[in-house]
Amino acid sequence: MFRDVELQCRCGKLHGWLRDVAPSAVNRVVCYCDDCQAFLHHLGCADLLDDHGGSDIVQVAPSTVSFDRGSELVAAVRLTPKGTYRWYASCCKTPLGDTWTPRLPFVGLATELFQQSPSAVPCDEVFGAPRGRLFGKFAIGEPPPGSVKPNVRLIARTIRKVLAWKVRGKTWPHPFFDRASGNPACPVTVLSTAERDALRPLCGPRPARA
Ligand SMILES: [Zn+2]
Ligand SMILES: [Zn+2]
Repeated sequence: MFRDVELQCRCGKLHGWLRDVAPSAVNRVVCYCDDCQAFLHHLGCADLLDDHGGSDIVQVAPSTVSFDRGSELVAAVRLTPKGTYRWYASCCKTPLGDTWTPRLPFVGLATELFQQSPSAVPCDEVFGAPRGRLFGKFAIGEPPPGSVKPNVRLIARTIRKVLAWKVRGKTWPHPFFDRASGNPACPVTVLSTAERDALRPLCGPRPARA
């Protein structure tokens, strides 16, 4: 079943939609990488990480994501000058997700965004259960099963999806990039080495706290 689902930040000033969603159309994963962990620590919302430092993310086609309220509140940060673009709502520091440039047309959205509205449908129902767990070598405590070795089936599926989105013209309109210039549609902050280094000790891999 395909459906449209609402997304919004924690304070509700930023609101939008993800269109034509079904488990078959998206790629839900849990990422334990240290950069995803650092991003949430930077925003001050590490409470969104699971017990092992994982971020629950759903990868979707850019053109299926749109904002109808508060789009001027979108901001971005890069942990390094050429790093992944990491988008967030500047009003309340809710993480929105991550992308590369539009040449690689996918948007990874924090599934938390879909649990904020009163009409929210459980993520397992909308997106299906996570299809895999990535970068477990950075996990807090014991890495979850299957998260350390590269998941070849998941990687192949992701490549198939992104190529299909590219071919079918689902790059534009992009929720985060300006079509004419190809540049980010909002200000982008790049963390200094000192800022990035200060986040490192907060992230895995490290033992779970007692
Ligand atoms: Zn907000
Ligand atoms: Zn990650």
